[in-house]
Amino acid sequence: MVSLYSSITYLKGVGDKKADIFREELEINTLYDLLNYYPYRYVDKSRFYLIKDLRTNINTYLQIKGTIISKEIIGEYKTRRLVCKIQDNSGSALLVWFNNIKYFDDIVRINEQYVAFGKPTLFNNSINITHPELSSEDKSTWKDIPFQPMYNSTDKAKRAGLDSRGISKLCQTVLSLYSNEIRETLPAYLVKKLNLIDRKSALINIHFPKTNIDIEQASKRLKFEEVFFMQLYLLQIQQKTANANRGYILPKVGNYFNTFYHQHLPFELTNAQKRVIKEIRADFLSGKQMNRLLQGDVGSGKTITALLVMLITIDNNFQCCLMAPTEILAQQHFNSIKKMLGDMNVTVSLLTGSTKNSIRKTMLPEVEKGNINILIGTHALCEDNVLFKKLGLVVIDEQHRFGVEQRAKLWRKSLAPPHILVMTATPIPRTLAMTVYGDLDVSVIDELPSGRKPIKTVHLYKRDSMQINNLLRNQIARGRQVYVVFPLIQESEKLTYSNLMEGYEDFKRIYPEPEYKISCIHGKMNTEDKEREMQLFKEGSTQILLATTVIEVGIDVPNATVMVIENAERFGLSQLHQLRGRVGRGSDQSLCVLLTDFELSDDARKRMQAMTSTNNGFEIADFDLKLRGPGDIAGTKQSGMLNFKLLNIIQDEKIISTSRAIAKEILSSDPLLEESKNRELKESLELIKKERKNYYQIG
Ligand code: ADP
Ligand code: MG
Repeated sequence: MVSLYSSITYLKGVGDKKADIFREELEINTLYDLLNYYPYRYVDKSRFYLIKDLRTNINTYLQIKGTIISKEIIGEYKTRRLVCKIQDNSGSALLVWFNNIKYFDDIVRINEQYVAFGKPTLFNNSINITHPELSSEDKSTWKDIPFQPMYNSTDKAKRAGLDSRGISKLCQTVLSLYSNEIRETLPAYLVKKLNLIDRKSALINIHFPKTNIDIEQASKRLKFEEVFFMQLYLLQIQQKTANANRGYILPKVGNYFNTFYHQHLPFELTNAQKRVIKEIRADFLSGKQMNRLLQGDVGSGKTITALLVMLITIDNNFQCCLMAPTEILAQQHFNSIKKMLGDMNVTVSLLTGSTKNSIRKTMLPEVEKGNINILIGTHALCEDNVLFKKLGLVVIDEQHRFGVEQRAKLWRKSLAPPHILVMTATPIPRTLAMTVYGDLDVSVIDELPSGRKPIKTVHLYKRDSMQINNLLRNQIARGRQVYVVFPLIQESEKLTYSNLMEGYEDFKRIYPEPEYKISCIHGKMNTEDKEREMQLFKEGSTQILLATTVIEVGIDVPNATVMVIENAERFGLSQLHQLRGRVGRGSDQSLCVLLTDFELSDDARKRMQAMTSTNNGFEIADFDLKLRGPGDIAGTKQSGMLNFKLLNIIQDEKIISTSRAIAKEILSSDPLLEESKNRELKESLELIKKERKNYYQIG
């Protein structure tokens, strides 16, 4: 029997060939898929525009009503065209045809009323509508479909008749035959509570709305559903990992923590840091495995927070590991943590890709015996031969580099899963956190340590080099240090290198020894050389550090007060913000200089403006999301977590947070969705999981 879930070939007029095109070009297999292929916009035929208003509506499809007052064929060859002047009480516009000139010349009659539909453009300062649809007013058939749906299609599909009109017709057929089979996916109580329309009406109205309100209600309902089931799914995973993974209970706050807190901690924690530690303490006591995301702006003190939590872990006789995205950063964490711990009896080791085999051979057994308290490293920590005696806590300092899948792998690695703390390097917008990291609890450090002066950011052009050099000399004369960063040129490592080397030569000339000393770090150096150069800068032996973006994340030299970013237009916003966060770590006024060419793309200019207008990482993250869209930001393009059809992660924040709150509420009283009132939810979720198998591949 044919049903909504039957192949698209059951539709009249869709043979095997068209079905192939449906599948290959539009990923539509069944009738139901077709109904879930939503228009991306509508052409509003429900009203007429006044011609005088067209100037403010350039490039949008619309319709006008007026009298044709003249027509002529002008131009030659390719520019030969029929031009008709149409006029209403408010003004006049030109209707232009380059094709089918004879046909339109025949049907258009002067002094008669017409309805013209199309996209106005401005040409020689007059309004043109090229190739409008035209009908004599009283014969208009458009009244039936006041909002004509527009569907995304491909050239190949269009050639097979699957343009907007073709798709729309097929949708109409499916709806007229099978709309009674459309199942409600949400329980009645929820539909009512949220003031949503039912699913059947939503699907009908999304394809064939009669009013703007229809469009609004249909998309609200469908958007909610899209993100709501995802939230249910993510929260269930969270629940399941927590239940399945009875976590270690770490009840004690003992000597390690207390000694460090009272004798080694060089400053007072911010309230936000204290709150986060409390939140994590609660997780440690809960008996469930912690999966927590720690969000905080650059320089907000995430590392020290993590260290304190690690000490609690060690107080309870467990080991910890800290995973960083790059070797340099792992090395730095290692150095700074060792330094902070001072003479405390805590054993810390470093394991990265370049750790020598001879060292591994002695280190790994010690880790396995439990003699190493904190193991710091890169991805190398994930290797199979790294075994712990009792791993209690994994801290991941991530630059959005470990995907959801990798995280899952990590906590499946050991039999009794450790607590997991993921720290983001830069803040991500709330909406993204709720989706991409929706299976994690979130803690936020929303306060910078006191006494920091906000970093001043200026945007200068390369021709301002005098000004820049004066500024640098001035800072160096005061004993301060300077970073100069060169962009990684994606297309060519060679170019990146020569770019940096050229800069290096210039700097050596302008800042000659012995008065000035310069360090230089780039990707082609081996770890030891990098480390040596870094060390020279850290201890203040060199005043200028030239580098490619290897220093992007996490590097901490409080005496450095100037960050010069060369070719700043080549960096993304979050990268710029990360880089800027390298300064402003001491109590001195710091400065970030964004250097660009004079000619800039719109987009680059916006990025520079965002950077000079705010220091707040959460605001920067929002800008970034708006500029780039969600796909690139969290590096989640492949994971499909953000493949929403209607939902817009930027505009629909409210729908996202509502859906998460509702999902939480439902699961807290009915974790497995077993109550009869939630039957629809359970069934729908199962179905969606099956349908979207490749999207939801975390669990
Ligand atoms: P991020 O959150 O970017 O990882 P870090 O952990 O590197 O930041 O901390 C930035 C700097 O601020 C470090 O030098 C750290 O010692 C210092 N710091 C952290 N917390 C405080 C605090 N409560 N008061 C003063 N300085 C702090
Ligand atoms: Mg950090």
